[in-house]
Amino acid sequence: MAARVVDLRADTVTKPTEAMRAAMAAADVGDDVRDGDPTVRRFEAEMAALMGKEAALFVPSGTMANLVSVLTHCDVRGSEVILGDDSHIHLYENGGIATIGGVHPRPVRSNPDGTMDIDRIVAAIRSPDGVIYYPTTRLICLENTHVNSGGRCLSVEYTDKVGEIARSRGLKLHLDGARIFNASVALGVPVDRLVKAADSVSVCLSKGLGAPVGSVIVGSKAFIDKAKFLRKTLGGGMRQVGVLCAAAHVAVRDTVGKLADDHRRAKSLAEGLNKIEQFTVDSASVETNMVFFDIVDSRISSYKLCQILEKRNVLANPRSLKSVRVVLHYHISDSDVQYALTCFEKAVEELLMGDTESEHLADGATKNSYGY
Ligand SMILES: *Cc1c(COP(=O)(O)O)cnc(C)c1O
Repeated sequence: MAARVVDLRADTVTKPTEAMRAAMAAADVGDDVRDGDPTVRRFEAEMAALMGKEAALFVPSGTMANLVSVLTHCDVRGSEVILGDDSHIHLYENGGIATIGGVHPRPVRSNPDGTMDIDRIVAAIRSPDGVIYYPTTRLICLENTHVNSGGRCLSVEYTDKVGEIARSRGLKLHLDGARIFNASVALGVPVDRLVKAADSVSVCLSKGLGAPVGSVIVGSKAFIDKAKFLRKTLGGGMRQVGVLCAAAHVAVRDTVGKLADDHRRAKSLAEGLNKIEQFTVDSASVETNMVFFDIVDSRISSYKLCQILEKRNVLANPRSLKSVRVVLHYHISDSDVQYALTCFEKAVEELLMGDTESEHLADGATKNSYGY
């Protein structure tokens, strides 16, 4: 058997459970583009109800979910969307809203907690006075949990406040809720309440929830009808896709209740990392399933550290030279967390020892002109 790997790079590495595979094998399917697939219809209705919206649409990825949502809201050329400068849509979705949708992004500074200041949002809304110069603001996007702030949650009060601003200015609010269930569990707020102010929400099924493929968009019936047309335009109309929705149904049914365990393990990993002298974690920032930690020793780089960890079958992601991201998910047990911590400690020892050795070498005859 292959050696056990503790993969802390992302929650996208989760593989479908036996129950998901069984549900996929047993799924009743049809042509979802032509007449609708019964398993898809059931799953979409279930997700709409769960999220407190009229309708839902299954799409292949979170990127397509966001793209379809933004383009559905901004179906007039010259539309502008206000979004965080550190948001997933702005940074990691190939600029699709601009290159495919012709939508102009108006980035607003993201705070370390994943919010944008309310007054900055308000200031970014284009005034009708400058109509000869300006694109037209049509949409505000929020992200909950916010991935680049380490999976921090936007509160229901904040989301409501932004929703209120959007409504009062005739704008729509889209919520990138790739990990909205993590936020709901961490905040103890029912997910339908948490997204109430949003006109549309995208939800990833293949991250912490563990489905093999897919995202859903939820919103009003009219919105989803338009979104469905766009999904087809973008090549996202799929045929016997009930096999995927069957797995997604099991993911939502079985995994949401386990997310709290991921969050507990993230806290315990953060505490353990904080005990290692060369690392520091802002424990307060660990709200869900991610831990971002900083390396405070000048001799250690994140890249070297992650390389050494990999040799011990622990995988983590460098974020920058001095910062590392680890993500918890349902394949990571309490003992995996303990094992990972031990490996982090050993890796630090190895790195510091290696450093003394190289210093030693540098003192004497170096091996080559580059000093190694
Ligand atoms: C992963 C992610 C997406 C995109 O999902 P893909 O399925 O990878 O395309 C969108 N938003 C956030 C916040 C994400 O973490």
